[in-house]
Amino acid sequence: MKTPRLLLISLLAAGWLLAPNAFAGAKDKTLDVYWIDSEGGGSTLIVTPSDESVLIDTGSPGARDSVRIVAAAKAAGLTHIDNMMITHFHGDHFGGAAEVADAIPVGTVWDKGIPEQDPDNKVPSNFPIRIKPYREMKVGKRELLEPGKVIPLKKTAGTADLLLRCVAVSQKFIEPTAAQRAAKQPSLGEVPAEKPHDQDVDNENSAVFLLSFGQFRFFDGGDLTWNHEPKLVSPINLVGPVDVYQTDHHGLDRSNNPLLIRGLAPTVAVMNNGPRKGNEAGAHATLKAQTTLQAFYQMHETLMVDSDRNTDPALIANTDVTGGPKDGNIIKMSVAADGKSYTITVPSTGSSRTYKTTAK
Ligand SMILES: [Zn+2]
Repeated sequence: MKTPRLLLISLLAAGWLLAPNAFAGAKDKTLDVYWIDSEGGGSTLIVTPSDESVLIDTGSPGARDSVRIVAAAKAAGLTHIDNMMITHFHGDHFGGAAEVADAIPVGTVWDKGIPEQDPDNKVPSNFPIRIKPYREMKVGKRELLEPGKVIPLKKTAGTADLLLRCVAVSQKFIEPTAAQRAAKQPSLGEVPAEKPHDQDVDNENSAVFLLSFGQFRFFDGGDLTWNHEPKLVSPINLVGPVDVYQTDHHGLDRSNNPLLIRGLAPTVAVMNNGPRKGNEAGAHATLKAQTTLQAFYQMHETLMVDSDRNTDPALIANTDVTGGPKDGNIIKMSVAADGKSYTITVPSTGSSRTYKTTAK
């Protein structure tokens, strides 16, 4: 029989050995969102408290982005991607999909239907060649997105209610609820003039997603454009206030209509821009003017303009000229299990800030 001292040592040793195993599978029950650097493309990975995963967009073709996406998924402990959502058929959104599916099993792919012709009506078009890997990739199944579609996700005991919903796709929007119809709509201020239609017309067809976790709400509108964005918030605000706004269209001025931003009234914006794409003057000014906004994150330092269009350097994941972290770095958000707060970290700069969820 062991002496008490030896027993204690044994127990401690066993504890040390057991602890990592005991907790390896136990969840902290946060809802995690990773913005993966696709240098001006879209690639946002959501991991639910029960480790289900949703990848919204897949970056561009050519290995760079898919390698980063798969690395982020594996670092998050995933062995497969449960749901892959494609907002629209531009290369910086669907381009990496087949490469991702080659590298890690993909369950369900959700899109608005693969276009038969060039989605931007361009002639001549190499779209048939570009879409081939996506059309032929091996995945569990394929589903069509429609407005109001709820993406089935498991509920996790002891956490806030989780809901991922497609609120618009192909210029079709969710219907207002009876309560929304009955509610007095607060004025969102001056209605900005329309802009010429986007030449890359498929942007206008973007699928738009709203993720909620208790009172916490996150908006990902793909590349939805200026003339269509207001339909989400006016004359009836179909989406309502959100906590975190992923800037539409990488922060280009063809999107980010001030009416949308005022209707969403975000606390935080995360811009999936590239060094020379997005964060344009109008979108930047709109965000700066948004009084609810407490912080503005950028995937990349904006290089083609004066530095006054860049946010706090601590909130920029990738910098290209100032000697900081160069590229491939993520931004991560963890929403607490009760949905009442969320922490956004920029591992490359060491920034970590916690925000209170806004009561809706
Ligand atoms: Zn895009």
